[in-house]
Amino acid sequence: MDKTYKTYKVNKDKCMGCGSCTFSCEEGMEMGADNKAKVISSGKVEECGGETLCPYGAIEAVNGAEETEENDE
Ligand code: SF4
Repeated sequence: MDKTYKTYKVNKDKCMGCGSCTFSCEEGMEMGADNKAKVISSGKVEECGGETLCPYGAIEAVNGAEETEENDE
């Protein structure tokens, strides 16, 4: 219980596809087929610095329920 991670997600409107977060945190982030980053491990992202990983502010913390990264559309 003493290790509680936030859930992170990428705001795809803000993501420039620069790849910076994937280099800084390759275990937590990866590039998707749409050339936008996505979170593969919120725990790793938090260890890497969370929101600060993205210079454009596209990585956002989501409190509460888990969210899926995929769009169902
Ligand atoms: S650092 Fe930010 S803008 Fe660059 S790929 Fe990652 S989420 Fe997107």
